[in-house]
Amino acid sequence: MHTAKEGAKARPRSFRAERDFVALGIAIAAILMFVSTGAKVLPTAFTSLMGLSTAPDPWLTNALILNVALLIFGWRRYRDLQEEIAHRRRAEERARELAETDPLTGCMNRRSLIPEAAEKFDTGCHHIAAFVIDLDNFKQVNDSHGHRAGDQALKASVDRIKRVLPDDAILARLGGDEFACIVPCDTSNVLQMDAIADSLIETIRRPFDIENATIMTTASVGIATLARDTVHKDAYKSIDQLLHRADIAMYHAKRQGKNRHAWFEATMESELQSRSRLESAIREGIERSEFIPFYQQQIDLETGELTGFEMLARWQSKELGLVSPDVFIPIAEDIGLISDLSELLIAKAFDDAKEWHEKLSLSVNISPVQLRDPWFAQKLLRLLMEKNFPAQRLDVEITESCLHENLAAVQTIVGSLRNQGVKISLDDFGTGYASLAQLRALPFDQIKIDRSFVAGLENTEEDEKLVEAIISLGKSLNMPVTAEGIENEGILAALRRMGKLKGQGFLYGKPIDSAKTRKFLEDANLLVQSNAKSDFSKPAAQEVEVDLSEAAIAPIRKTG
Ligand code: C2E
Ligand code: CA
Ligand code: CA
Repeated sequence: MHTAKEGAKARPRSFRAERDFVALGIAIAAILMFVSTGAKVLPTAFTSLMGLSTAPDPWLTNALILNVALLIFGWRRYRDLQEEIAHRRRAEERARELAETDPLTGCMNRRSLIPEAAEKFDTGCHHIAAFVIDLDNFKQVNDSHGHRAGDQALKASVDRIKRVLPDDAILARLGGDEFACIVPCDTSNVLQMDAIADSLIETIRRPFDIENATIMTTASVGIATLARDTVHKDAYKSIDQLLHRADIAMYHAKRQGKNRHAWFEATMESELQSRSRLESAIREGIERSEFIPFYQQQIDLETGELTGFEMLARWQSKELGLVSPDVFIPIAEDIGLISDLSELLIAKAFDDAKEWHEKLSLSVNISPVQLRDPWFAQKLLRLLMEKNFPAQRLDVEITESCLHENLAAVQTIVGSLRNQGVKISLDDFGTGYASLAQLRALPFDQIKIDRSFVAGLENTEEDEKLVEAIISLGKSLNMPVTAEGIENEGILAALRRMGKLKGQGFLYGKPIDSAKTRKFLEDANLLVQSNAKSDFSKPAAQEVEVDLSEAAIAPIRKTG
């Protein structure tokens, strides 16, 4: 395992040898002069002291004394010079170390990694593999445990990574929670690389005990390899590209669900380019107000009565047409725009819903990323106040995955919202392994069964049993249940046999935009201004159509 210090020490320092050579020359010249004058003066001085000869030539004696002084002076100068050189060398070493090392972990940094990796080829290695490691959701670790604990976790991660890597590997911290390792390898042995990546992931997944807290994190790893034969001119450039590829593979691993590794493939590069184009388009789209709320009816399955709408985001993009939230929500989450986007949409939805009959509720979907913001509840309540929308009509849908992240923080948020009368629904129930304890810990107002189970009701017995189990769980916890994805009469009939439920699905209506929703409600006498008694007897809004529809739009029917 190479560290930055070893890298720095290995470099030659010729300036020191040069200076030693000059100093040595001066010393030798002084000694030669001392020998030649001393050889003449000292014997004469000795015999003169014995009274056997006259005193030595005073010029020569003075020259000898001067020469001795010069030798002493020269010696001192030489010693000072040595000290100065040592001092400078230490300073230079320190500067190089600082420039090449990451001060927190003592690893190399990106700058020093590339030349060090290039040197691997000089030492006879034929292939190298780059592993880019990125800790998943590390920002959350910093947010919940503080930056000091975060730093400790990074250091501990480095210790663990070093233990997993082979002796001849190089490790560098690229920045934040991202690391890179260069490992000399035999590229034909893919399994060996897979094994290293798996060990890296495994070692990081083990909990860290830091400052009386247990910190859990996972890692995503990207792998790319480089053969010496393919490096023609510029080894630095090739290694830079190798790291870039491993980085792309790492992002791929993240998108596949994190806590895993991926090998670089050429198609990933073009995917990444289109992804970055999408990111800029989303940023521009927000500025141009291209994100709009669509609404889907929610129905009391027993009476067939409309109880409210779920707001579902759409992107009316100039270039791409109408884009599904499954495409842009994950990206908005990744690039930190989800809160802004969601606030804009919810504000528009409040404006729309204020025109609807006051008995109609408005459900909004909230991303787990938004729940990481400790001010989320305050922001939402402020928006309610600004828009003068009654909190009792708002229903916030959160998914099961939120519960695993930070239950205590979510509890606080949910508590503040419920205190003001906002209702909370657990969305996509059954997909995220929420435990009974988690369900008890949070006072949900309702559970929404994921549409994948509802869709399977007609065909598979297992789904039927599952839906039944969820409904009875809801009963025992005293939480009403909503079924999503009711696409046909068969599913509806099955659900109605199971108990008192609310539901939504294409059978009642696909999501439609604000104007169409308004028109639908106007026809059903369910707008505030109409002030008339609602009329559920007539079939609702056959004329309501969704501009999306490739499939024929299901007629919107009322039952019960
Ligand atoms: P979700 O909350 O589970 O929303 C229900 C999804 O099921 C919607 O897809 C809806 O159009 C679709 N759906 C409704 N009835 C049926 C049916 O009978 N059959 C089938 N096959 N599908 C049906 P959509 O609108 O594409 O939304 C997808 C997901 O995007 C939502 O799933 C939600 O998780 C997320 N989402 C939508 N809007 C927002 C938003 O404003 N913020 C956040 N954070 N997420 C949103
Ligand atoms: Ca939902
Ligand atoms: Ca759902």
